[in-house]
Amino acid sequence: MVIKNIITAVKNIYFGPTVTRMCPEVATKLSDRFRGLQKLDKDKCIGCGICANTCPNNAIKIIRARINPESDKQRWFPAIDVGHCLFCGLCIDQCPKEALSNSKVYLTGIIRWNHEDLLFTPDMLAREVDINAEDEAGEEVSRWTPQ
Ligand code: SF4
Ligand code: SF4
Repeated sequence: MVIKNIITAVKNIYFGPTVTRMCPEVATKLSDRFRGLQKLDKDKCIGCGICANTCPNNAIKIIRARINPESDKQRWFPAIDVGHCLFCGLCIDQCPKEALSNSKVYLTGIIRWNHEDLLFTPDMLAREVDINAEDEAGEEVSRWTPQ
């Protein structure tokens, strides 16, 4: 039995299918239903707060942010504490304006060492700043205070 197992293992090393990948160099193929970091369409968002009220983990806070990178005008938008997000998708399902959607971002841009770095501002959710280069983004990625 032991010999048989060893033979099977050796055979698989040379002739079996590849079962491991170099991550993140080789990306995992994701299904269309995959729920990664939320994406915000600021033009559609009306700041109603339904997403925040719906979130089962209290991960969303409605804060004031610029309506777009070129303007000084501000409105209310959701910010998401991704460190507390379950990626359940309820905020997306309940948004009356379809302002929130799923993206396939789940590695670069999300993996951070500190909880406060997982607080995604509206600018970040709208991808108005490069979420992979927060050091260069300066004030653009100023965080909201964790509750
Ligand atoms: S994302 Fe949708 S639910 Fe959330 S505040 Fe904007 S419009 Fe309302
Ligand atoms: S995906 Fe779920 S847990 Fe995450 S912010 Fe939306 S409602 Fe909250």
